[in-house]
Amino acid sequence: QLVEITDTIAARDALARTLEREHAVTVELRELARQKDAFVSAVSHELRTPITSILGFAEEIDDTGPAETKQAAQIILRNSHRLAETVEQLLELGRLADPETHRSVGVSELDPVVIDTIDEQRRTAERSGIAIQVSTGLGDRPVGMERLSLGRVLTNLLSNAIKFTPAGGTVRVETRVAGHRGVVTVDDSGVGIEEADRDRVFDRFFRASDESKLAMPGTGLGLPIVKALVESAGGQVTIDDSPLGGTRFTVELPLTTKHDAAEPDVRVAT
Ligand code: ADP
Repeated sequence: QLVEITDTIAARDALARTLEREHAVTVELRELARQKDAFVSAVSHELRTPITSILGFAEEIDDTGPAETKQAAQIILRNSHRLAETVEQLLELGRLADPETHRSVGVSELDPVVIDTIDEQRRTAERSGIAIQVSTGLGDRPVGMERLSLGRVLTNLLSNAIKFTPAGGTVRVETRVAGHRGVVTVDDSGVGIEEADRDRVFDRFFRASDESKLAMPGTGLGLPIVKALVESAGGQVTIDDSPLGGTRFTVELPLTTKHDAAEPDVRVAT
């Protein structure tokens, strides 16, 4: 009996040691992740000032420089704008990952934001030979996400749908109520996303290895931002095949009441 008791104690001690080690590893990993985010954020901040300076001088050369430098100035401008956009997206992701600075408690009406976002992108779609269809079903019912974030989510999904759909194609945006949730689907007749890539597209910097897709300008930060914003509002985003032949992105957000709109959106700009 004594042997049995000793064995039990030994087993319990071994288990306690394993749990302790696991806890220490988790704490260390969390600290490393925090340091990584802080590093990315610090570098992004440092990049802002020189990029602004490059943009400013390139604009001046483009406006007032000799004709033979114009083309070079425009290439510098185009690339600096892309760099600036990447830096802003990295800062946005950093803010979203930091619970101290971000808590999404805003409210806005989904349908008007959908209409505004489509209006903003209609010209790009027309230039690319893509038809946009829209059907809204929420009326003035609001969802639990403030307007700027909602606009950013819809802009990212819609611009991807347009970007990854060849000329002659269609993009369709639809909103509807499903139980306690407001649902928006963005469908396209475009190139689609392979089954194996559907989780990975939400990882930072992921871009499908497909040659035709890599030819498109992009950073691989649009969808991680969409996911972080939607999840911080208590919603979810999923990918399916679209009945139009390409990709369907579905965003579900909690429906809420206008009363909640009185709550301020706690978002610290940096
Ligand atoms: P970006 O568009 O800047 O590359 P995103 O994070 O928005 O970055 O998208 C990541 C990747 O997911 C894209 O590079 C593309 O491969 C894929 N993707 C996103 N939306 C679509 C879509 N509507 N159709 C096909 N592929 C898409």
